[in-house]
Amino acid sequence: MSKLIISSAIRGAHAIVDRVEGKLNAALEKYGYDKEVKLPNTGYYLPVIYGMSGFKVEKLGDMPHVIKMCRDLLPEVPAENAWLPYLGPGLDAGMATCFAYDLEEAMKYLDDPCPYLPMKEDPEDTDTDIWLGAADDIILRKRGVEFVDGSAPGFAAIVGAAKDVETAVAIAKELQEKSIYVFMAGANDKGVSFAEQLKEAGVQLGWNTRLVPFGKDTSAAIHALGFATRAALTFGGIKPGDFSGNLMYNKNRVFAFVLALDTVDDEKYAAAAGAINWGFPTIADTDIPEVLPTGICTYEHVVSNIPQEEIVTKAIEVRGLKIQITKIDIPGSYGPAFEGERIKKDAMHVELGGPKSMGFEFAYSKPLDQVEDGKFTVIGPDLDDVEAGGLLPVGIWIELAGRKFQEDFEPILERQCHHLLNGAEGVLHIGQRDIVWMRISKKAYESGFRLKHFGTILHAKMHNEFGAIVDKVQVTVFTNQADVEKHLAVARKTWSERDNRLADMIDETTDTYYSCTLCQSFAPTHVCVVTPERPGLCGAYNWLDCRASYEINPTGPNQPIPKGDVIDERLGQWKGVDAFVGPASGNAFEAFSAYSIMESPMTSCGCFEAIVSCLFGANAIMVVDRDYTGETPCGMPFSTLAGTVGGGLQTPGFVGISKFYIGSKKFVSAEGGIKRLAWLPKALKEQLKDMIDKRGEEIGVPDLYSKIATEENATTEEEVIAFMSEVGHPALEMPPLM
Ligand code: SF4
Ligand code: ZN
Repeated sequence: MSKLIISSAIRGAHAIVDRVEGKLNAALEKYGYDKEVKLPNTGYYLPVIYGMSGFKVEKLGDMPHVIKMCRDLLPEVPAENAWLPYLGPGLDAGMATCFAYDLEEAMKYLDDPCPYLPMKEDPEDTDTDIWLGAADDIILRKRGVEFVDGSAPGFAAIVGAAKDVETAVAIAKELQEKSIYVFMAGANDKGVSFAEQLKEAGVQLGWNTRLVPFGKDTSAAIHALGFATRAALTFGGIKPGDFSGNLMYNKNRVFAFVLALDTVDDEKYAAAAGAINWGFPTIADTDIPEVLPTGICTYEHVVSNIPQEEIVTKAIEVRGLKIQITKIDIPGSYGPAFEGERIKKDAMHVELGGPKSMGFEFAYSKPLDQVEDGKFTVIGPDLDDVEAGGLLPVGIWIELAGRKFQEDFEPILERQCHHLLNGAEGVLHIGQRDIVWMRISKKAYESGFRLKHFGTILHAKMHNEFGAIVDKVQVTVFTNQADVEKHLAVARKTWSERDNRLADMIDETTDTYYSCTLCQSFAPTHVCVVTPERPGLCGAYNWLDCRASYEINPTGPNQPIPKGDVIDERLGQWKGVDAFVGPASGNAFEAFSAYSIMESPMTSCGCFEAIVSCLFGANAIMVVDRDYTGETPCGMPFSTLAGTVGGGLQTPGFVGISKFYIGSKKFVSAEGGIKRLAWLPKALKEQLKDMIDKRGEEIGVPDLYSKIATEENATTEEEVIAFMSEVGHPALEMPPLM
């Protein structure tokens, strides 16, 4: 906290504790030490005090002990310009405030009549009484579970009042739409409260509408913290008195924040400092000193000067709240069932991109404040502007932002467009990057589908599926040739940078590799060790993908492997990798070579794009991919080979690989690499031509391509040997394979 806030909070806390002590002394005088005190229908006593300290307040006579606890927590009021380097004193003052508020609110139940409505979920409509006070345990169980199962992402504790009734309604609506509970307490310095503003506008208040008015005093805000504390005790299995467990549970599980509307005085500073203990930041519309460095809260502690119109968005951003959008708001249906749908020419309203035009999609990230979440724009003709059966160029421009977003995630999210857009009924999507080809059906058009709905889909799905990294999604669709060309040029530049980023990385200079154990579901001992120069054998996971996947899902199938000391540079063996592979393979294997087909080669599951096999007679290797079904020189077609090699085994002489790996410098480099490659299916060879030419240059065999046989030259090992001598294959000169 900034120095200023800390002093204000400490000053405020002293005033509050003094006031509550005064009230307590009066109450003791009036009712005596044995007078029972309790909140309605709860087993948690005064919940903040009980949750944090384990101390049970059951009688008025128990309260002086709590006042003593407050005094012990309270730091001295700092001198005017005192140097306060730590948050600690402010947090302690905040906790003292919370204990004192717990007492103060409990004492209200001694009053006759009680200032709170008899405990129920909804305030009566009939009079001005709207305040509900503390929730009982029935409400806690019913509502608290929503925080646990995710149907309520969190709560906003609103203190003070909006600038007018309309703004209050708008703020409440926005929070309601996001399923966030609104807990209301306190009033502004003119005695106006947010809850009363809503009441005036005829908004229905109560737990059922998630708009919960606790009380008009700022002290009633303690019922929000009491609710959070009890939720940790009830649902988190946290023991009373385990304050750090309780606070951590709330910080990590209950996404709450405080909206301080209008003036913030010392008392409200003290309350805000209290909430920071739970990891709940305060967002204010007034100019109070900001507390930006992160620490206790997941993000900033206090953010000020946010206009009321933007305060909800800002709060969600600061607290890192993840919003789930359950319904994809487009005409027609959405779901995986529509992914395989085809749209024939006569059924389509429009074709976008494809071979007769130009189509691309591009996702990249920007700073949080430069992306407007949920903004969808169409620039150029929309579906109404084309005749049925028409054609448009298309550029789908996706701007992403997120606290935890990293540039490396961009291609992963961009690759999602295909399955995300395909999920809409009447939308066909093929390709990626600059080979996008789409069709929209007449039926979809007639039901109201327009280009902006691409935005709706991408926004909703990216929030849902990548909420851990994506906070904001903005989508622009271009359909003018000139715009498409202009933006495509920008995208192409980024794509080549992305390709080079991994191309520039080498295993030697990378300390951390990644595992992939996704395939253990059917090959229980299989582990892919993914290095910058060796992607997973399925071709779907390169090193950057694994790293991103780990960031998105830290307990998922891609785990970092610190490679540790080198055991054997040539074979590609490291201590860290072996230490990982043992347990990860269920102790089926002790060592893994990243670069060898002969000594402890990596295991193969079943989804390899291709298989490398040794041709010992030829002193060479061959590669066969899935698409080639004919006989191969090793004596087995792909299908038989796959049965031999797969299933999570190490099979020296054979290894499953991704096609991309063939172009890597580390491609079976322990046995001499691509220089040994003597046979490929023709189609695969053509597909890999650029790669082979490049590698040929690098190893000093520029005509390597022409020296590799295909099924047109050879289908037996003898024929391969004959071909090799004919062309002078470099493997003939290499040391023996075994
Ligand atoms: Fe992961 Fe692919 Fe390896 Fe399976 S084959 S474990 S999906 S990298
Ligand atoms: Zn697999």
